[in-house]
Amino acid sequence: MLAPVTRVPLRQALADLPPYVPGGRAPVGAAAFKLSSNENPYPPLPSVVAAIVDAAADVNRYPDMYATELSEAIAASLGVAPETIVTGCGSVAVLGHVLAAVCESGDEVVVPWRSFEAYPIAISLAGATGVRVPLAPGGRLDLEAMAAAVTPRTRVVLVCTPNNPTGPAVHADELATFLAAVPGDVLVVLDEAYVEFVRDPDVPDGLAVFADHPNVVVLRTFSKAYGLAGLRVGFAVARPRLAAGIRAASTPFGVSHAGQLAALASLRATSELLARVDRIVGQRTRLLDGLRAQGWEVADSQANFVWLPLGEAATGFAERSARAGVIVRPFAGDGVRVSVGEPEAVDLFLEIAEAAHAR
Ligand code: PMP
Repeated sequence: MLAPVTRVPLRQALADLPPYVPGGRAPVGAAAFKLSSNENPYPPLPSVVAAIVDAAADVNRYPDMYATELSEAIAASLGVAPETIVTGCGSVAVLGHVLAAVCESGDEVVVPWRSFEAYPIAISLAGATGVRVPLAPGGRLDLEAMAAAVTPRTRVVLVCTPNNPTGPAVHADELATFLAAVPGDVLVVLDEAYVEFVRDPDVPDGLAVFADHPNVVVLRTFSKAYGLAGLRVGFAVARPRLAAGIRAASTPFGVSHAGQLAALASLRATSELLARVDRIVGQRTRLLDGLRAQGWEVADSQANFVWLPLGEAATGFAERSARAGVIVRPFAGDGVRVSVGEPEAVDLFLEIAEAAHAR
């Protein structure tokens, strides 16, 4: 029997943390579509499964600490130098390492809000102070206001593009104006977790922006377009000196051998995987068009999810949707985020949305 009470104090920052609500797994046996975590609905390719099986034979050994072969393959695929790549246990962990590498206690990190719910948590755990800048209408980042929020205490600005959970991505002209206004010693993190789903020609490729701006770091992941959410592989692209600092702040052996081999196999299958992304983008268009035809006001989405600004009705909507077979992600008092799933999931969600709109 454990003595019930511990007297060990926890950090105050923990008490203040907002919760990160996981989408969870769909209940076993339930005829439910899980559209709550922006996952890829397609199962892994046979070549990726084979790579994971291969990796199983070596699990008594630690993985390559710096995922050398994977980093080289990522670098080659992006046209950057391998020393600019830092891998980690999902891009969310890499973000934590970026903040750990540059933030001193009390430094400010400017974030759009609402945005990715892991941001406030990562910022607090880094001992920094988040400065939230409200979104502009249409769920867009207000880059002008974000630049204006930069103070001498600001170390980092997080730019989530496309923005989770609202969907729009920043445009090249507004990002250029923003970067011209932000001092060169402030790190600008372009979180491009959903970049492969972008189709708007006005949205820049973060790597081109990175090439021109030494204070820009790009974050990407294998979780979304590449469908490896369960293996946790993400990476940053940063100038070599910054990259070395992020590596120094990283969890050792952060990417498993299975993750490294599966990501390598996924890079080899890029064209097949991007064809799947095209199909998901097609379903996104169908979902957005369907919702608008029903009379919903939905923001543009350049990602694999759409946002319904339901306000106080968000939680009730999500509960009814789950009862009808589609698990979506409510943000209480604000809205509901629905991932773009397989065509049948989109069909069923459109039925649910129509019934809700008619209420
Ligand atoms: N950035 C954004 C904007 C996200 O939405 C997510 C996943 N929800 C991540 C980063 C993290 O992805 P992962 O840790 O799986 O690479």
